[in-house]
Amino acid sequence: MTRKAHCCCGACSIEVEGEPVLNAICHCGNCKRRTGSAFGWSAYFADEAVTAKAGDFGLYEIAGAKAQRRWFCAACGTTLLWQADGWPAQTGIAGGCFTETPLPEPTATVSNNGRCAWLGLPAGWRTTP
Ligand SMILES: [Zn+2]
Ligand SMILES: [Zn+2]
Repeated sequence: MTRKAHCCCGACSIEVEGEPVLNAICHCGNCKRRTGSAFGWSAYFADEAVTAKAGDFGLYEIAGAKAQRRWFCAACGTTLLWQADGWPAQTGIAGGCFTETPLPEPTATVSNNGRCAWLGLPAGWRTTP
């Protein structure tokens, strides 16, 4: 199956083939700030699964132990994709940006020590502190 994620204004998009290697939500401060939401929804695909990318992207680079490169729409600012040194040969894509071709339910919840106390989640997801 081919899925397409795009930014708020529609200028930037990324297309992937097949299912994500990891489909998870993350409660860390970094993901909260990136999304402005209670958690980040991240889908990691093998780099080869990325079949198309379009638009004018800006790049934000984070150095250090959790080094990563994030690409965001230069017009509307939506962070659409990233590559992290900790996830070699994979592309992370903002799960909520797959609006027309939604991802399946996440299978994991990570960085749960940062989870908002009011947030309930379905049972059965792999949970890591
Ligand atoms: Zn945009
Ligand atoms: Zn996170």
